[in-house]
Amino acid sequence: MSTEIPPRAWVEVRGSALLRNLEAVRAAAGPSIRLIAMVKANGYGLGVEPLIRILETEPLWGYGVASVEEGRELRELGVRRPVLVFSPVPPGAEAAAVAAGLTLCVSDAEALERLAAAARSAGTVVTAHLEIDTGMGRAGFPDGTIDRWRPRVAELTVGSGEASQGSEEGAGGVRLGGLFTHYHSADAVAGAARASIEAQQRRLAPVLASLEGLLSADAFVHLSNSAGILRGPRSGSSVAEAGVRPGIFLYGGRAGETLPDPEPVVTIRARVIRVARVPAGATQGYGSTYRADGEERWATLAIGYGDGLPRALSNRGSVLLHGHEAPIVGRISMDVTVVDITGLPSTRPGDLATIVGRDGDRERTLDAVAREAGTISYEILTGLSRRLPRVWLPD
Ligand SMILES: *Cc1c(COP(=O)(O)O)cnc(C)c1O
Repeated sequence: MSTEIPPRAWVEVRGSALLRNLEAVRAAAGPSIRLIAMVKANGYGLGVEPLIRILETEPLWGYGVASVEEGRELRELGVRRPVLVFSPVPPGAEAAAVAAGLTLCVSDAEALERLAAAARSAGTVVTAHLEIDTGMGRAGFPDGTIDRWRPRVAELTVGSGEASQGSEEGAGGVRLGGLFTHYHSADAVAGAARASIEAQQRRLAPVLASLEGLLSADAFVHLSNSAGILRGPRSGSSVAEAGVRPGIFLYGGRAGETLPDPEPVVTIRARVIRVARVPAGATQGYGSTYRADGEERWATLAIGYGDGLPRALSNRGSVLLHGHEAPIVGRISMDVTVVDITGLPSTRPGDLATIVGRDGDRERTLDAVAREAGTISYEILTGLSRRLPRVWLPD
């Protein structure tokens, strides 16, 4: 007696394609650049554990996450490389970060004070990276007020040429291992993206010059997300970066306008669980927003917004069935979605629908589906719920 349950819907992840996207990033960034793979939000929704398993064999410098919890998870998976926590952490999270050997990115003097206190209690020198806000506006020391915050940073850090209060031997403290800013418009159309990147670099350059004396000897600058990397360095650059922070492109999302496409990594599939012939006038879904014109055939798919299929695709998206498009009709429910299969009469329960990915000669790309839903690939991926098993394909 078998107790196997055929899955209703799932996410297929092609690790080999992910690694080829990583290769493309490496080629664009240059051979000596430090790669910080962004694996936040459960590896952009793909499952951080299998992701780390394949990335650990790659020559990366380290990983980027958003929270201390995510960083600790990487340590529990056996990661020994540097792990940077990019979002500011809530006050009180510093001790756990220090204990797990995570590198916090600090955004203001108060956060630096809290980290220095945690480092002193632990009796260790911890590494932090300094974020500079050059226009993103969500985190970072503002470039424009450096005269105000620089003295505090000097007081609160150790290991640089300048005297600082925490620098006594064995006392513990914070050393600055890196400095970065985040591009806000590197994904825009080429000209605008380039102009915004250069503007942010021009704001960063004097900050970097002023802080040079506070940085540790091995400190490095990292600037680019996927889009920034693929735009490539230009003669207009006023800051050289020694590290980059790729994310979405690795996972098969387009990095920005006019940039090369990544290899698709993710396929989302769902089973047909019911087919029905309906008469003219039949209504479909909550609010009966769809009404059959004539006699139609509908298929119910075992995937809904509770799985992460955006409800915004109601009455507008479509899926692939037997290599053909089947439009979504009516509102998407939490657990199921109905598509029109009038032109596909051979469809049966158990057949496979492709929400994102390839079926026969046709493909629905992650970005096309995201656009249809009025969102971005990032939100589709990170919105995939735990109800969908992630199936990492061998090749
Ligand atoms: C998420 C994130 C990235 C990666 O951005 P992508 O657009 O996914 O490449 C890089 N840097 C920081 C600070 C981030 O938070």
